[in-house]
Amino acid sequence: MQTSKTSPYDVIIIGAGVNGCCSAYTLHKAGLRVALIDQAGIASGGSGAAGAFISPKISKAGTLKEIMSEAHAEALEFYTTNFPNFTLVKPLLHIANTPEEGEKVESFKYETHLKHSNILHKIQILLSDEALNSPSIYFDMGAVVDAQGVCNAMTEEIDFYPIKVEKLIHNDDLWQVGELRAKHIVLSIGAYPKLLPIEYVGLRGIWGHRIDIETATHIPCILHHHVSISPTTKEGIVAIGATHNVHYSPFSGEPYDVEEGRKALLDKASKTLKLNNINILKDYTGLRSGSNDYLPMLGSLVDANTTLALHPHLRHGKALDPQEYIYYPQLTMINGSGGYGFVLAPYLARKLKEYLVDNQPIGPILSPSRFFPRWAKSKKNQS
Ligand SMILES: Cc1cc2nc3c(=O)[nH]c(=O)nc-3n(C[C@H](O)[C@H](O)[C@H](O)COP(=O)(O)OP(=O)(O)OC[C@H]3O[C@@H](n4cnc5c(N)ncnc54)[C@H](O)[C@@H]3O)c2cc1C
Repeated sequence: MQTSKTSPYDVIIIGAGVNGCCSAYTLHKAGLRVALIDQAGIASGGSGAAGAFISPKISKAGTLKEIMSEAHAEALEFYTTNFPNFTLVKPLLHIANTPEEGEKVESFKYETHLKHSNILHKIQILLSDEALNSPSIYFDMGAVVDAQGVCNAMTEEIDFYPIKVEKLIHNDDLWQVGELRAKHIVLSIGAYPKLLPIEYVGLRGIWGHRIDIETATHIPCILHHHVSISPTTKEGIVAIGATHNVHYSPFSGEPYDVEEGRKALLDKASKTLKLNNINILKDYTGLRSGSNDYLPMLGSLVDANTTLALHPHLRHGKALDPQEYIYYPQLTMINGSGGYGFVLAPYLARKLKEYLVDNQPIGPILSPSRFFPRWAKSKKNQS
């Protein structure tokens, strides 16, 4: 651990969810001195709640699909190679739950390079009529990781500090958080309050609930339908999840109705198959942090107030090369992974390492600054 003010870290990472943990692991492997901070422990936010399926995103052709398919391949390789004890590999059956989703599944089948085949008889006989009669795709290989286990394993060799960060100070070319100092800060704080005036970074927190159960029904593969139903790395335990509740926020002060969440999960699971003798073992809840355009975010943050003061014409929609924006120095945000944080984390952590260690640019598609011009225009009537 850092012992004196004379030995700053190379990087302080704030937020020990899967993005912070995977970044810490990757940067440490690349030779950087890394400090990891979290107010509530490793994988205590959205990441600790995740079912943590490493599943492909069934989407139409486009940038999102390209990024997700690269990230998915990278994640399968990353977890199975580096953390096999926390990774369960099983076939994966994805069943459409709406006609619109059905169209996506059918076109995905023809475009994907992922190996897929006919549903095995032993799985067919488990499925409800609705599940059997909906478009589906049966991948030969899917995976699910133990969310908390893998985050703990990734950070075994990392200096961890249980601190709630209240503010960020940049002095003499170094970032300071309490007693800790570093050249670079990585902000991977998910759907929590943002710590900086970066209102333009459009993020939505989507509450989710999942449960671990015991059941007399044997589940031979990972099933995604109205919810996911899946064996886990823990023998005999089946995971069911997750809900997508856009109305509830843990920051509202209102209590969350766990019983209602459990009922929603079991009702949805029953549309896929019948689970016998269910015993609920554990509830997991947390917030996913999704971006407004569904793409993840990785990159520097625009200092919005300074940039607007220097370039007031941005309020009138005038274009400005993003290189002209003023950015917070040596600060990178990772966020906006939505329901795919475990799929995206190894890909984003690699890009972060390429940026910080190999000086490779990250590129505009992932940059949080993509949201800045529109926000600046919305300030038209404010001087
Ligand atoms: C129910 C559920 C199921 C999911 N299922 C899957 C799935 O199957 N597959 C998949 O890939 N993804 C899944 N996800 C999504 C995935 O969990 C998220 O995308 C991922 O957790 C995002 O990780 P993160 O590191 O960005 O944020 P988080 O995990 O939320 O971590 C942010 C951390 O920052 C800390 N923090 C915030 N502010 C401060 C501060 N001021 N000081 C100190 N610490 C701070 C918090 O304590 C928290 O630990 C699921 C999510 C949920 C909620």
